[in-house]
Amino acid sequence: MAGTIAWAVPVTPTLRRSGRRTTSDAGRWLGLRPAFGRGRRAAPAPRMSGDQLPPPVAVVGAGWAGFTAADELAVTAGTAADAAAGIDVLLVDAAAAPGGLAASWKANDPPTAGVATTTTTTSAPPPVRAAGAPPPRRTVEAGIHGYWRCYTNALALIRDRLRIADGDLFTPYTPSVLHTWAPGEPPGTPSTTVTAPVFGALPRAPTPVATAVGAAFDATKLPPADRASAVGLAAAWADFGTGASAAGAATAADSGWARWDKTSARALCGRAGVSERLYAHFLLPLLLVLPMAPGERLSASAALSCFAYFALGRQGDFDVRWLRGASGALLFGPWRSRLAGLGVATRFGDRGRVVRVAPSAGGGGGGALTVTLTDGPRGAGGAPAPTRTVDADAIVFAVGISGMQALVRSSPWLAADAQFRGFANLSAVSVVAVRLWLSAPVSLPGGPAHVCGGGAVPGLADVGWTLYDLTRLQDEYAAEAPGTVLEADFYHAAPLLPLPDGPLVDLVLAAVAAVAGTPALPPSAVTAVAITRLPAAVSHFAPGAMDALPHGVAAAGLGGVYLAGDWVDRAGHPSWSQEKACVTGLAAAAAVVDGGALGLSAAAVAAAAPRRTPVMPVPPPEPHVAAAAAVARAVRGVGAGWRGVLGGVLPLPLEF
Ligand SMILES: Cc1cc2nc3c(=O)[nH]c(=O)nc-3n(C[C@H](O)[C@H](O)[C@H](O)COP(=O)(O)OP(=O)(O)OC[C@H]3O[C@@H](n4cnc5c(N)ncnc54)[C@H](O)[C@@H]3O)c2cc1C
Repeated sequence: MAGTIAWAVPVTPTLRRSGRRTTSDAGRWLGLRPAFGRGRRAAPAPRMSGDQLPPPVAVVGAGWAGFTAADELAVTAGTAADAAAGIDVLLVDAAAAPGGLAASWKANDPPTAGVATTTTTTSAPPPVRAAGAPPPRRTVEAGIHGYWRCYTNALALIRDRLRIADGDLFTPYTPSVLHTWAPGEPPGTPSTTVTAPVFGALPRAPTPVATAVGAAFDATKLPPADRASAVGLAAAWADFGTGASAAGAATAADSGWARWDKTSARALCGRAGVSERLYAHFLLPLLLVLPMAPGERLSASAALSCFAYFALGRQGDFDVRWLRGASGALLFGPWRSRLAGLGVATRFGDRGRVVRVAPSAGGGGGGALTVTLTDGPRGAGGAPAPTRTVDADAIVFAVGISGMQALVRSSPWLAADAQFRGFANLSAVSVVAVRLWLSAPVSLPGGPAHVCGGGAVPGLADVGWTLYDLTRLQDEYAAEAPGTVLEADFYHAAPLLPLPDGPLVDLVLAAVAAVAGTPALPPSAVTAVAITRLPAAVSHFAPGAMDALPHGVAAAGLGGVYLAGDWVDRAGHPSWSQEKACVTGLAAAAAVVDGGALGLSAAAVAAAAPRRTPVMPVPPPEPHVAAAAAVARAVRGVGAGWRGVLGGVLPLPLEF
């Protein structure tokens, strides 16, 4: 019989590590289990060995990391005939819409009440609407998300588990246009542009030749000498290493990430001889929209990892495509249904926010945990929400940096652990996402996706932003023509958070005009707007952050506690992205099954192994890139005394 997660209502027996459940115990539990026993087979065949019942796991946070972990746990620990016969899995999220930072929802729905989303407003109704008709259910997303070619794990999961055909989910790869304005350029100055074609479609050449030749640079603002100043970065890039060996593994102190962690990306550019113009017109906007911080506030490791992973390992790495509709409808809705079919219980919104985690009475240290979560909305006048508790033998925190910091503050047991207390030294980047419905046609030259940075739009210095023509990207908006639906996402955007909606919309209209090269549309052209403010939402890799990041998915000092998410370090994979979240979700699920907290027999662990989805390493770089990394390794490998000498005389930004 399947194990269950026990709700701590007064008569519920509590799972103790010293007295693991028996079949008869579980029978009593089934009767008490409130929300998520439905749809189970009455008496599924036991999958685990002996009379030991499989224990429960709580996955907290239902973004990419949490969904992946819950799915993998259900698949590996279940049976082919009835996955629910395995480990009981509960997936919870404080937001009403599944998907975390990649979620979508309807603006007209009740507020999503997520920890990430603070405000969603829809202002004016559309101009043409039959009298008495309800306002249209407008889709909102917490920012538009791209899927790069190198997301092998996430893409395989979508294909093999969710069985969604590529063409039903994604647009074709699109070109991207980079727009920049150097500091001091007055408002109205036309942007300096670099157009990145779909590099994978170009004739093959050793990378980054195709990037250098195929990208259309503005020759007056970025003359060849400035472009050539990027060469210095190549040595640092080789020294950092590429692929799984260095950018991702980061298990040893000698990893590329560790060596470059305490240097800022700005200092790296200085040491590498990158010209001010190349930094302002090319590197800065990429840093602002990918790792989402300017060079001074970003570790050189994060910048190098970003370039190694997204651009420089293989031709075509920079190519990106987009969901052709809302993530909720296309991805997380079907995924949630799949999880239900696998027997995973879910709780979202007011009934899904975990407020505290503690060892169960008589447990602790070994894994039996009590998880307290909300069980309804806040009371009148802001009174605390009602709560209930659930016992679990293991917990996977897939809550992001800010979510984890809040849980440490509210959970003395977590706060007693030095690593978890140290998470307070990390920070997260704020993002604002604005979706505009415009009555007028707007033409963004060069394609539907634009990446922008620089100060010519007042209020946007040090802010990176992307602008998407959703009428061209998403099927549901094609019918809005001749009107236009645009999405402007602002990164490193804390100063924009307090702006009221009106001035924020004015700012977006100015940004649109700067990209389109036209006068700003009047606010009356805006028929509706949805604004999502995401304070401290995205993982920030500041110089020196590495020590405070989780060292892998298993919490060293707390039995039964695991971590997943795009900020988990030393997880065998670079980047901070949906792919990284997916990879760490897979790794956390494997660690839960293998770890001792569940008390599984060796036979049970062995039985789960063939069903496991192995994490695919980052695709290897092209041979000449790997050779350059090997040379850099060899240079570093010379004796300690020589290293200091070499570091002083070589005109290369090697980090000894
Ligand atoms: C505007 C924007 C654009 C982006 N663009 C891209 C892109 O183009 N490509 C890309 O790959 N990545 C992109 N990213 C990054 C990507 O969204 C993240 O890397 C990824 O979604 C992180 O997933 P996660 O599961 O680690 O965490 P999250 O998605 O942050 O999920 C954490 C979840 O935990 C929940 N939670 C927190 N605390 C609690 C609690 N106490 N109880 C219950 N639940 C809790 C939250 O509600 C949230 O749903 C972008 C991000 C933003 C904001």
